Amino acid sequence: MKQRINLLIAFSVAALVVLSAVQCYLVKTTYDYKVAQFHTQIKNEIAQISNNYSDIDSVLVSRKETLYTNLSEKYFQGKKSKTDIKNGILENEYRSALTAEIQRKFERDLPNFKIDFAIVLNKFILYQNTKKADTIFSEKPFIQNKLYGNLASLNHAFLVRNYVGTTNGTFKNQDYKLLTEDSMYVSVIDWEMIILRRMAFVLVLSLLSILTLITLFVIALKALIKQKKVSDVKTDFINNITHELKTPLATLGISTKILEQKNIRDNDESFNSIVNTISRQNNRLQSLIDQVMANSLAENEIELQKEKIETEVFLQTIVNDFKIGYPKIHIQTHFETQKTNLVLDKFHLTTALLNVLENAVKYGSNTITIKTKQIEDQFSISIEDDGIGISKNKQALLFEKFYRVEQGNLHNTKGLGLGLYYVAQIVKAHQGSVNVISDLGKGARFTILLKV
Ligand code: ADP
Repeated sequence: MKQRINLLIAFSVAALVVLSAVQCYLVKTTYDYKVAQFHTQIKNEIAQISNNYSDIDSVLVSRKETLYTNLSEKYFQGKKSKTDIKNGILENEYRSALTAEIQRKFERDLPNFKIDFAIVLNKFILYQNTKKADTIFSEKPFIQNKLYGNLASLNHAFLVRNYVGTTNGTFKNQDYKLLTEDSMYVSVIDWEMIILRRMAFVLVLSLLSILTLITLFVIALKALIKQKKVSDVKTDFINNITHELKTPLATLGISTKILEQKNIRDNDESFNSIVNTISRQNNRLQSLIDQVMANSLAENEIELQKEKIETEVFLQTIVNDFKIGYPKIHIQTHFETQKTNLVLDKFHLTTALLNVLENAVKYGSNTITIKTKQIEDQFSISIEDDGIGISKNKQALLFEKFYRVEQGNLHNTKGLGLGLYYVAQIVKAHQGSVNVISDLGKGARFTILLKV
């Protein structure tokens, strides 16, 4: 059964992991799609507001073209090297004016987005009729080749468009053509938030479905484990009660057989001894059945007959009676309280306290100490023993119905696992609480707290 549950858990966890992975993949795909869609939208909107940069400020653009022509002619004259030309273009004096102009245009025409941009020059090639093309430079888009714009890096920017420009000129009666190519890169501030907002529905839905699945899984698992526990407890109970019933029944059987012998019946002493045994076993059977009956009541079905009693006197009476039953056990009392009047059910509480005391003896104790204390508005009764103790990991279930700590051989000591359950139920019915402090081999201390 345990193996089957473990297998089931393993399969369910694997299925959950696969499902979560598929969900993540789907979310990632949607994210990529949304990013691509967003880029296309920005590209289209930018395309709509400017067909080429010349419509931004024609005065500045014509100054730019004059600069290009001047530089080209100086190159033909041999006055400028390729590097000089590149530096001349990049250090142009209209850089900040054009940047501000384009920025203003973006702010005016695309008010929903905050856009940073950069226009980088990729190619500068001169064609002379008689000579072959002279490439001043041709590079991949590179932020160092920024003509204008306010982007400091192209890392998170995307390409909006390439612009190829041609200028015709004449130098020393020779026509030449200048070909330039530049690219516009833009980055939208907080674009991640924009995409997330657009994906909110998908995200929330997939998160909810995963959470629902996990919750259902946990609920199902809890129910399964609880069921398993109940079934284990039932099996244990049946084993224990069978064992408990076997001894008195066997003794009764043997005793009846002995009584059938005439010589035993004729001997008064033997006859009385057998009758006593039968009576003891009968009582034992009766008390077993009483225990089961008493514990078949649910917590709210326990009817308490409460009365005002002086608790210390009540405890001392229980201790005195107990001492008579167990003369070899050393029992001591330390009452730090005096004349505490509490409203209690004498009968039920006596049985509960006797259960704890009997357990102490049953589980190897020779000395039992009973203490009372007042802790704020609580009256504490602690019963400490020097028995075998209970390991920490077994303590959580101690007060559960039918629970018994397994000790190698289950039937080392007799019991049905109902004693402490009864204690907990009775204390709870008095609005109190019970706890245990113990460790294996170190005895146990049960503390009952009752409201004053
Ligand atoms: P049982 O009929 O088995 O005694 P209880 O409900 O009285 O049932 O106790 C539950 C289990 O708690 C016991 O099986 C025993 O292992 C453990 N236990 C109870 N009291 C003590 C104690 N004083 N010392 C050690 N173990 C104890």
